[in-house]
Amino acid sequence: MGGPEIRIDQLTGSRVLVTPDRALKPDDFGHGAWTPGDGEGCPFCEGAEAETPGEVAALRPDGSEPDSPGWTTRTFPNLYPALVPPGDSEQSQVEAGSAFASHHDPLLSSVRSAGNDLFASRAATGHHEVIVNAPEHIASITDLPPERLEAVVESWRERMRAHSDAPYVQLILNQGPDAGGSIEHSHAQVGAAPFVPAQVARERERFAAYRERTAGASLLEDVLREEVRRDERLVAIDDDVALICPWASRWPYEMRIIPRTPSPSFEEDGVGTPMLHRALGAISSIFGATPQLNLWVKTAPRGVEDFHWHLDLAPRLEPPSSFEFATGVDVNVVPPEVAAAELRDAIA
Ligand SMILES: [Zn+2]
Repeated sequence: MGGPEIRIDQLTGSRVLVTPDRALKPDDFGHGAWTPGDGEGCPFCEGAEAETPGEVAALRPDGSEPDSPGWTTRTFPNLYPALVPPGDSEQSQVEAGSAFASHHDPLLSSVRSAGNDLFASRAATGHHEVIVNAPEHIASITDLPPERLEAVVESWRERMRAHSDAPYVQLILNQGPDAGGSIEHSHAQVGAAPFVPAQVARERERFAAYRERTAGASLLEDVLREEVRRDERLVAIDDDVALICPWASRWPYEMRIIPRTPSPSFEEDGVGTPMLHRALGAISSIFGATPQLNLWVKTAPRGVEDFHWHLDLAPRLEPPSSFEFATGVDVNVVPPEVAAAELRDAIA
């Protein structure tokens, strides 16, 4: 590419400014790697089970007792939850016509509701869980060998399935302080939300609109076919999934795992973990053994078939700037074509 470009993300419709800075090298970013501690006093380590809320699930190969050592992955409610299970006395039903009756913006609705929606709120009901990825003090998920990562991702999927009655289930992993990781011991989080977030609703709407416009085609399947044909942002491909740097990548070295057979729901599918292991290895080889990174899954909201799951990850290299806060438009200084070329060289 020549000068800066505005690109539109195919899935969300969001615009991104891609502003290539040819002088920029991976070492120039100030927030790539960090130096974790030794795990002294860590509440997520094996043996410290009493310091967390009681577990709701764990992989215990030897059948050890709950909330004792002997696990390989362990899940418990977040001690500081963003979403809490509804109490018996709490109002969890939403009144028809209130600001929460649908995910659409009530101020833009043609139907005037009875109440005043300017200061709308309701209890944040749902579930917010922590899934610890390893019993020993591992700060980076990149440290897990393939067979352990396979078991970890299956634990994530199992906890997402456990909340299949929620309107939307979000899986995230924050690694490193700049990526929002408040505890360094490697862990993922599952949020079972009482609403479908706007970005996810937007993807769903665009999948449906694309299918209608093309008489039955899948938006992400068509994007993937074209990415393979163009071979500019494709990093790797195996029998099950492809790994690309998205056309409208919001951050440098952002990557997306896309199943080659369209499948709405990540948690009901079983593929992609070997490619995730390779992608994490490529980030480590470019940005150091303990890269700070964000990882998230977009999966079908409850009852939705017209969707196509994908898993996204990006090293956390720079904090957002005021422009991004003001506009919601991200500025990416490394074109995804440049990132993909480096990642192709780095991936095993
Ligand atoms: Zn620990």
